[in-house]
Amino acid sequence: MVTYPRIHFGMEKLYNFIDGKLVEPGKSNYLPNINPAEGVAYNLVPDSDAQDVAEAVKAARFAFASWSAMPLDQRAAILSKIADLIDRDLDQLALAESIDQGKPFKLAKSMDIPRASANMRFYATASMHFASESHHMEGEAVNYTTRTPIGVAGCISPWNLPLYLFTWKIAPALAAGCTVVAKPSELTPMTAFLFSKLCIEAGLPNGVLNIVHGLGHKVGQAIVEHPDVLVISFTGGTVTGKTIAATAAPMFKKLSLELGGKNPNIIFADCDFEQALNTSIQSSFSNQGEICLCGSRILVERSIYEKFVDEFVKRTKELVVGDPLEDKTRVGALVSEAHMKKVLSYIDLAKTEGGKILCGGKRITMSGRCEQGYFVEPTVIIDLDQYCRTNQEEIFGPVVTIMPFDKEEEAIAYANSNAYGLSATIWTENLKRAHRVSHQVKSGIIWVNCWLLRDLRTPFGGMKQSGVGREGGWEAIRFFTETKNVCIKF
Ligand code: NDP
Repeated sequence: MVTYPRIHFGMEKLYNFIDGKLVEPGKSNYLPNINPAEGVAYNLVPDSDAQDVAEAVKAARFAFASWSAMPLDQRAAILSKIADLIDRDLDQLALAESIDQGKPFKLAKSMDIPRASANMRFYATASMHFASESHHMEGEAVNYTTRTPIGVAGCISPWNLPLYLFTWKIAPALAAGCTVVAKPSELTPMTAFLFSKLCIEAGLPNGVLNIVHGLGHKVGQAIVEHPDVLVISFTGGTVTGKTIAATAAPMFKKLSLELGGKNPNIIFADCDFEQALNTSIQSSFSNQGEICLCGSRILVERSIYEKFVDEFVKRTKELVVGDPLEDKTRVGALVSEAHMKKVLSYIDLAKTEGGKILCGGKRITMSGRCEQGYFVEPTVIIDLDQYCRTNQEEIFGPVVTIMPFDKEEEAIAYANSNAYGLSATIWTENLKRAHRVSHQVKSGIIWVNCWLLRDLRTPFGGMKQSGVGREGGWEAIRFFTETKNVCIKF
């Protein structure tokens, strides 16, 4: 068990990071930051407003000229240094993430924080290899295309993978030469705050990255509305995505929206059963099911349906739910009381829609320091049809449904019967089927015989109501640049 350093996390105040300095919000208003495993506030997060955002944008605008003109190797060196500092502080950052978000410390240490440093390092080096194109018109002209940084970028990220997704946005923006005004979720501000200190230590020039903490409808909205923020990269819920699009579209801002998911996990009878089962437990309940890529709709070919359900329920019951700081814990606390209530309300809805709860279904009351924490049992539901609300709406918690199918076409139809199209997982040992189904399922990311296996060079994002645009690899660097073609006649 990790020692819980109360001494460092008393009711200290977190600060905004503006123009290279850690500063109080202009009006000195703060919000309590809750530790979800304990259900108590443990520090204060700035409740910033449009004026703080204006200060941050002013600093970012000023810094843009020198940052965008800085030699690539120097820019890359600073971003790489930040990655090194994240690695150095792995334990501290993982602990902060676990306390802030409710996820198991072990998961934060093995996934979230290493991925945050990988994001920084990946884009630091990518900026050195980024190139633009040239098109020759035989004997007539030559075209060359330039891709130059757009200016000030707004990066807004959610609470489920706080530093992981925060860095996933700001790293390509900074690597492309943009300066940034970023807002983490006010529910999980801690690692972004610690990250601002690492930026100072790494020598990131003042104003290049600015972090304004606070509420979405105040700070997030002010970033999106600000006329000098020319490009917006947002990850979060589909409803928020709509609001952001409605604000940004009339201002003709460039937008990348990574939104919700309700991902199918399709299991054919010819799969490697053990592998499908083990990975499905992870893809259902990792991070308490609070990953946009979780496979919350499990579709199983009828001939193995009963066997799969029995084994899946047995393994689900074995998952240890508990104190996120304990080594044995596999499922921690949900991020907030409001979110826990939302998840529980969906379990109630599933019952009214005719669903049968095979395991879980309730809040868990722990003893000791976690007795007021927001814990929900991993829950497995069957007997629901594809079109009920439980199977159509994103729950974003430790709740999955399992449904049988008879034919491949039926599985594809079920998979596509949803407004979302973020990711899908397919389990089969039949190569032709793997190709066929991958092509027909309408999701931006398909995993065959694996889940969450990520190569940062690949395009990442969703179809339909799961988003607009793609992140990852060159897609993200291009997103933060403005394209110009110059045609020169011979
Ligand atoms: P929200 O949409 O509620 O919030 C995301 C961020 O946007 C937060 O920082 C939030 O601030 C801010 N925000 C809220 N309202 C506005 C506004 N009007 N203008 C600008 N910013 C605003 O999502 P959650 O934080 O609840 O995250 C969970 C959602 O994120 C799920 O739907 C999940 O599927 C999705 N997600 C998608 C991923 C993907 O890659 N496609 C990856 C991870 C999550 P505040 O916290 O103050 O509300």
